[in-house]
Amino acid sequence: MASVGIALSTNSTRDEAELLRRADMAMYRVKQQGRNGCEFFDPAMDDQAAERLDMVNALRRAVERDELVVHYQPIVDLETTAVRAVEALLRWNRPGRGLVSPVEFIPLAEETGAIVSLGEWVLNEACAEAQCWAKSGLSEAPVTVNVSARQLLDPRFESAVAKALTFSGLNSAGLILEVTESSVMQNADVTIAKLDRISATGMRIALDDFGEGYSSLAHLRELPIDILKIARPFVRELTEDDHDPALVRGIIDLARSLGLRLVAEGIEYPEQQAILRAFDCRLGQGFLFARPMAAMDLRAMLAEQRGALQRLGDKAR
Ligand code: C2E
Ligand code: MG
Ligand code: MG
Repeated sequence: MASVGIALSTNSTRDEAELLRRADMAMYRVKQQGRNGCEFFDPAMDDQAAERLDMVNALRRAVERDELVVHYQPIVDLETTAVRAVEALLRWNRPGRGLVSPVEFIPLAEETGAIVSLGEWVLNEACAEAQCWAKSGLSEAPVTVNVSARQLLDPRFESAVAKALTFSGLNSAGLILEVTESSVMQNADVTIAKLDRISATGMRIALDDFGEGYSSLAHLRELPIDILKIARPFVRELTEDDHDPALVRGIIDLARSLGLRLVAEGIEYPEQQAILRAFDCRLGQGFLFARPMAAMDLRAMLAEQRGALQRLGDKAR
């Protein structure tokens, strides 16, 4: 694979070093887009590079400056809408920019390695929060934490997970790690062995965004996973006119035959919920039920649900 960056000598740039720098920047752009190809230098690339550098520096200090926030989105029983698990989703409260979405900074954090410390922070925060739900009697729902490829490859990953459990007092059954197939496959032997050891401690592993991008049946059987999360595009398709339900059905059947629990992601419409239920998919997550929310709001939601359950119990007595 070749990535080619081109910079043209003009009246304003005859300096060799400057030309090389520009060609390099154009080449970096090709690489960033993950493709084989070529790109011409454009002065806007300078601004973007400066913005990127700014972000790298700001991200490095985000943990110590207390700028990170975890939001929580319930994973519910598709029949009763009771909360069965909660996904921790990172946000960055970047000064002057408001709440920045992980889509905007996780890739860069991955690239620079900053994700390792951000990820540890999320693990600690999420475990402490889940332990708070359990201790205050709000809910026994486990918390799920997204783990990126770089974190999985980090030699300190297992001890970081163990520490998060020890510090919070959370039971290993209270934590679920979400990984993607492509991140596991980056160094498959080492990562699978690591996940096997983690799984042996009683923690569960979920395969996130299943069906999106790279998916392999052969690998699926080798992975020590307990939960399969059906990627959002499949759920979206369910209510489109020309959709073919065979694919989602196939994923659901596959999960069942492998003895995995299923979670459908990105449910936005009641029709999607109904179809998934008809396919016997029991768990789901999406804006239809709740958007990701601040820790306090989720606590209130759990408290309300617990209250409703108690009222039901009182009536039955
Ligand atoms: P993900 O793990 O697949 O998380 C689900 C994403 O879908 C979340 O986006 C959530 O807000 C969004 N979502 C949930 N329900 C719906 C819906 O009904 N409709 C639509 N359109 N979207 C829905 P978010 O929070 O922006 O996170 C994006 C991605 O960033 C996550 O995808 C995950 O890959 C990554 N991420 C988030 N937090 C962390 C983290 O702590 N560590 C790592 N490594 N990655 C993270
Ligand atoms: Mg996830
Ligand atoms: Mg997902």
